[in-house]
Amino acid sequence: MRGRQCLKMLYLFHHKRELIPTLPKKQDAVLKKGFGFEKQVQKNLFPKGFNMRSLLGNAYSEYHPHTQRILAAEKQVTLFEAGIISQQVLVLVDVLRQNEDGTLDIFEIKNSFHLKSNFLWDAGLQYFVCKSYLGPKLNGFNLVLKGHNQPFKVIDITPQLEKRLAEVQQDLELLASVIKEDKEPDVAMGKHCSVPYSCGFIGYCKGLKTKK
Ligand code: SF4
Repeated sequence: MRGRQCLKMLYLFHHKRELIPTLPKKQDAVLKKGFGFEKQVQKNLFPKGFNMRSLLGNAYSEYHPHTQRILAAEKQVTLFEAGIISQQVLVLVDVLRQNEDGTLDIFEIKNSFHLKSNFLWDAGLQYFVCKSYLGPKLNGFNLVLKGHNQPFKVIDITPQLEKRLAEVQQDLELLASVIKEDKEPDVAMGKHCSVPYSCGFIGYCKGLKTKK
């Protein structure tokens, strides 16, 4: 997602993450609201789910192997923040449900009434990685949004994501090549610094601009 918004953001995130300042209060409040909605969905739609983050915290290299171990040991299980790796890309999905017949369903939770285009960007990458690893076991990829007449609305977006697979593959090749570069790509500041997400490196890039 970062690379789709700005290649420089992606590079900085991988090589100079320490430049990201503490979140401003407003942004922090938006994130907390999002987490609150996620908790509601977990509690109501997946009451028996197990949260991998409570076990692994920030040990990201452990998410994929632990997820695999649990899926192999349990017949039917629901995991929050399950980790899947393919082509050296790790994705953590909000909810991974293993059904009795061994198939898997994924649910991404978004604190919004509407399906936005950036949700499809995020989900496109997650679907690509999950499908590459899980193959035909992957049954469906869904979004859980806020509902108007009910608390939640579940939308199956698998057909939209299937159509994006080739595009995501190309994106991944580009993003991987940018991360391997010796220096950050030269990208001018613009609208993309705050749309769809506010970039954590705005202070750094503004500083560079004033030095020029
Ligand atoms: S501030 Fe703008 S130009 Fe700089 S990394 Fe972020 S999105 Fe890219």
